[in-house]
Amino acid sequence: MRARRRVRQASAATIEELSTLATPCSRIFAIFILNARASLKAVSAKRKSFALIALLIVLPVLLISLVSSGPTLDGYDDLPAAADPVILSLLNGEQLVPPPALPPEVFMTREVAAERIELASASREWALLDADFRQRLLAVYRMMERHGYQMALVEGYRSPMRQEALASIGQHVTNARAFQSYHQFGLAADNGFYRDGRLVISEKDSWAMAGYRLYGQYAESVGLTWGGRWQMRDFGHVELRRQISTSAQRK
Ligand SMILES: [Zn+2]
Repeated sequence: MRARRRVRQASAATIEELSTLATPCSRIFAIFILNARASLKAVSAKRKSFALIALLIVLPVLLISLVSSGPTLDGYDDLPAAADPVILSLLNGEQLVPPPALPPEVFMTREVAAERIELASASREWALLDADFRQRLLAVYRMMERHGYQMALVEGYRSPMRQEALASIGQHVTNARAFQSYHQFGLAADNGFYRDGRLVISEKDSWAMAGYRLYGQYAESVGLTWGGRWQMRDFGHVELRRQISTSAQRK
């Protein structure tokens, strides 16, 4: 600091002025001051160019991060920006493993039959679901576990024949004919809850209803469409809407 002050004080000094200085000692001091001034100027110029280079490197990165919205993941570009960070890390990391199959009788109780008919012949094979859809759904399962909900796949892939059979029962079952449902493409699934050895899918059960709402939120946060928002509500249904060859519709 002191050296800088002395240099500033001597800022008026020039080479011509040196000759006017009386003693060699004072001349040497003046030369030293001039050299110091020159080196300080050089350092300051270098600093400026360093700052400029750093700005040129940082600026494009800053602009890109400002333009892009939310977290982005390879293959999950359609996810809403507000997706749960834990879900995002699940989707980006390990391949989630489906839970073990539940005994078939779980799906055939009177309680279940009152809500869903023809469940005995429904497919619950995770392998028949689209890999991307499966991973998203399993991430939702994982998040629901954090809230004490053990989820169960009620129906996944549905053959066109079965879809037709269900549609022929009536619109209260489904309004989609064969190939009009994402179930035929492995891109939809109906899910419920498993509690104390029983499948709970009734909307009259307040615990299940609270679970459905949470499940819907998580499903939407990973880019799935939730049937709970439809006019003909289907709280357990989720689907991954993707461009498919025929005009697939919901349910
Ligand atoms: Zn469904």
